[in-house]
Amino acid sequence: MTLQDIYEDIARLTREKYPERVPVFGDGDPNAEVVLIGEAPGEQETKQGRPFVGKAGKNLDEFLALAGMDRSALYVTNTVKFRPTKRSKAGNEVNRPPTKEEIRDYLPFLLRELELIRPKYTVTLGNTPLQALAGKGVTVGEAHGALTEARGFCIYPMYHPASLIYNPSLRPVYKADIVRFAQLLKT
Ligand code: URA
Repeated sequence: MTLQDIYEDIARLTREKYPERVPVFGDGDPNAEVVLIGEAPGEQETKQGRPFVGKAGKNLDEFLALAGMDRSALYVTNTVKFRPTKRSKAGNEVNRPPTKEEIRDYLPFLLRELELIRPKYTVTLGNTPLQALAGKGVTVGEAHGALTEARGFCIYPMYHPASLIYNPSLRPVYKADIVRFAQLLKT
C-alpha cells in the first residue's frame, strides 16, 4: 500500500458519495516523524489542491517556526478530505463543520495514512481529529499539550489555530503547547 493507493480510494469515495466535492489529499514526507491533522480543507486548500495553504498555511508556518521544524519534515492531512460548506442566508458558500457521517466516511483513510507513515507523533488540531481518533470522551480543552495514546498512535492534542480567532486568550496556551512539543521532539 502506498499513499497514492489511499488517495485513489479517497477520490473514489468522494466521486461516488459526494460528487460535488473536490478532494484534497494529505501532503508531505511519507517518512515524516510528525503528522499534523486538521479538520477539513478550506477554500484555498480546495483551489490549490493542498492542505494548509492560505490562512491556515500561515498558522502552519508559525507552528513550524516555534517547533523548530521544516515543512518538509512533516506530513499534513485532514480528518475530512473535502471542504464542507453550506449556503449562507445571503446565498454565499460558507464553511461549516464536518458532519458525523462525513467524519465516519473519511476516518478509515486517515487511519490508513497513519498506519503507512507510522509517525512518532501525531498532532491533532482541535476536537475533530482528536475525537475521530480518541473518541468523544476526550476534549481538546482537557487533553491539549500532553501526550495521549489512541489506536496505537502517540497523539499530541492542540487547539485548532482557527479557534484563536474567536478566543484570543487561547493564543499563549497554543504557543506554549508548541514550545512543549518542540522540547518533546528533542528528547
Ligand atoms: N486548512 C486545512 O487544510 N485544514 C484545516 O483544518 C484548516 C484549514
